[in-house]
Formats: sequence, structure tokens, C-alpha cells
Amino acid sequence: MRSAVVVGAGIGGLAAAGALARSGWKVTLLERDDRLRPGKAALVLWPNGVRALRALGLAGGLDGISTPVPPAGIRRPDGTWLVQPGPQPGGVGDLETPPVVVHREDLHDAFIAGLGEQVDVRGGIAVQSARVRRDRPAVGDGRVTFEADLIVAADGPDSAVRRRLVAASTFTSAGFAAWRAVIPWYRAPEIPAGTAPHGELLGGGQRFGYASLGERGSAGGSTRGGIYWVVTVPGALRPEPPAGQLALLRRWFAGWPAPVPQLLAATEAEDLVQEPVGEVTPLPETFGVVAGAGGFALVGDAAHAMPHHLAQGASLALEDVATLQTVLAGLAVPAALSEYNRLRKPRIQRVLQQTHKAAGVLQVRGRIASSIARVNPRTLERAAAAATEWGGPTG
Ligand SMILES: Cc1cc2nc3c(=O)[nH]c(=O)nc-3n(C[C@H](O)[C@H](O)[C@H](O)COP(=O)(O)OP(=O)(O)OC[C@H]3O[C@@H](n4cnc5c(N)ncnc54)[C@H](O)[C@@H]3O)c2cc1C
Repeated sequence: MRSAVVVGAGIGGLAAAGALARSGWKVTLLERDDRLRPGKAALVLWPNGVRALRALGLAGGLDGISTPVPPAGIRRPDGTWLVQPGPQPGGVGDLETPPVVVHREDLHDAFIAGLGEQVDVRGGIAVQSARVRRDRPAVGDGRVTFEADLIVAADGPDSAVRRRLVAASTFTSAGFAAWRAVIPWYRAPEIPAGTAPHGELLGGGQRFGYASLGERGSAGGSTRGGIYWVVTVPGALRPEPPAGQLALLRRWFAGWPAPVPQLLAATEAEDLVQEPVGEVTPLPETFGVVAGAGGFALVGDAAHAMPHHLAQGASLALEDVATLQTVLAGLAVPAALSEYNRLRKPRIQRVLQQTHKAAGVLQVRGRIASSIARVNPRTLERAAAAATEWGGPTG
């Protein structure tokens, strides 16, 4: 029986551990936290991510926990339309299926169910080293060493495994800070009648997006219903405690149209998650590093963290895992890793290129209306649509 060690129990690691176990591998999952915890708030999965979940046999897990988010246009901070709602040629309205929004706790539960009984889960292991041992790849936390035929590095943007294997690639700030939160329905604010259940506003380099998880007041499309919002602003991470960060957000967005101030007023400091926005740069030369008779696979943010402007990070992690599972089915580990890199590298480079285009629009500041018109805000929609184009696990 082939053996794998998966480092990190985020979306990429949980998906990889479950996929390998279901394919007959003996899997050990290492997580630095004491127990497996979901990320906070919610996220959007694009059709390519749902397709990857389908390839992994997990798409059924989305039933009842996801809510479609059809394109709703983009408004300026003064309430006027920057991009009118409705289909635009080459825009997200042209997609066969809209993206869905899902609470991260619900997604986490679906992945835990997908792990089955066979995965050996070890919490409290913060991997520090990665090397070749007895002709196989090995990782360790300074106390215990784990070796296997395959080691999957899914330990996020600051990946310790990546640092050991490809030291030149580092996670570098993209010059934005971001916050997200989910407000449970029982605390949901009074939003003026006629306000769309989801939407996006953009101006002065600041971006505010929101989406309802299910029907108001019901468990609805999510067992943890509520309203998800995500904010992106230029600048560094804020050092203030969460209450101070929330006060700043309320001040920055005070004049914006409904439901922005209402959502921020209904947010509590403990709902708030501040996250760095950055990119692994340069991209690792290879996402599959051969080590003796086996090797390391880099997946998700460990391989290619990028700014969240197109909301593709989790979908790309799932694509990585679906591809890895497919190539490992027919090949020995070293050959499979080379094939994995051949299939994933150009795909990631394309999405990164679209992400940089989107960043160009977001970075427009100053005289909002005129300058942003010159940049062409439809670029955002087109970049988002282009990023969903994925040829499936075999390219
Ligand atoms: C504001 C914001 C909004 C976003 N919105 C979306 C969205 O709508 N849609 C979308 O698809 N993506 C979105 N993303 C991106 C998405 O969240 C990430 O791409 C995705 O979570 C990456 O998953 P991962 O499993 O690769 O890494 P992570 O989620 O970072 O998981 C890494 C895991 O490894 C563990 N770990 C770390 N180091 C070690 C170690 N040394 N040893 C052992 N374990 C370790 C961590 O504790 C963690 O459990 C967003 C990102 C941001 C910042």
C-alpha cells in the first residue's frame, strides 16, 4: 500500500487526505493546531471549484450548504452603477452556472465527512523540516519524523515545507489588507427593502462584497445561515485589536450606500477576521519535487497563494488535488509529480495573470469615477470569468 503524509488541514489538505485515502493510500494528516478547525467566515466557489469537487466525488457535500451568487453588477460608493447587472460578453453572466457561497464551517464538515475512518489525524504537529530520508521524502517537527512515498505540502501561504524545498519563493504582501465576517441571521441588520441579497461596491481602491447564505432567517441554503461580507482596502495589516479595526472599517465605509454601513454596524469584533493579502513569488519552479523514490507535491496556497481578488484560492486548491489524484492513479510518484507540475503550472500562471489585471482595477484611487472609467471595470468581470476556464484534472 502506498503511503502519504499530508501537511496542513485547510481546504487543500483535507481534500488531499480524503482523496488519497479513498484511492487506497495509507494517509497521515499533520496539523499544527491541536485539533482540526474550520477557517472563519465564508467563501465563494466558482464553477471550476465545484467541478473539481465533483472530480473528487465530493460535490454532493455542497447540497444544502451552498447558495448561488449570480452576477449582480458593481456599484460605486455614491450608489451609481459602475457595471450594470446583467450578462456582459465574456463576463461572469455568461457562465453556465453561477458561483456559490458557502460557510467555511459547513465546507469543513463536508471535508471531514470525506476523510472517512482511515486517515490518521495528528494535531499539534508544526512541521519545520523537509528532506530525503532512506530514499523517501520526510518531514518533521523537531521531535518526530514522518516519512512516506508522497508528502503533500498543504500548509498554506507561509508553508514551512515550501521554504525548505524552494527557498527562493516567499509569501510577499500585495499591498492590501482584507477582512471578512459572517453575521448570523438573528443579528442581521434591517436592510432597506429592495436591497439585492448579494452585491459588490468599488471605489477609491476599496472594495466591499456581500452575499446572503440562504434565505433570510432560515437555515436555508446553509446550516449556518447569515450574511457574509468581505472588504479589501489598500495598505498594510492593521495592528489595532479587532474592536479598533471594526471602528476603522465603520469610519472608512460610513458614507457608502446600504447595506454597507448597516452590515458593519451589525458586525461584532469577534466576527471579524483580518487576513494578509499576498502572493507566493516567484512561483516555485516546480509544484512537484522528486525526493528519492518518492517526492513532495505542493498544493493550494503553499504552492501559489495569490491575492483573493478573483476568489479563486480554494477552487485552485481543489483543482490541484483533483489533478494530483488523477495522475497518481496511473503513475509512480516521481512521474506523477512531473505530470502534476506540467498540468498545474500553466493553469496557475493564467489565473495569476488575471488576478494581476483585477488588482490593476482595484488599485485605481483618487478621482474615482473618471479614473476608474478609463481602467474599464468590466476587466474585473472578464478576469473573473477567464479564471474559471479549467480543462479538468487531465488538462
Ligand atoms: C479575504 C480573503 C477572501 C478570500 N475569499 C475567497 C473566496 O471567496 N473563494 C476562494 O476560493 N478563495 C478565497 N480566498 C483564498 C482562500 O481562503 C485560500 O486560497 C484557501 O483557504 C487556501 O487553502 P489551503 O488549504 O491551501 O491553505 P490554508 O487554508 O492556509 O490551510 C493551511 C493549513 O495548514 C496548517 N499549517 C500551517 N503551517 C503548518 C505547519 N508548519 N505544520 C502543520 N500544519 C501547518 C494551518 O494551520 C492550516 O490548517 C480568500 C482569501 C482571503 C485572504
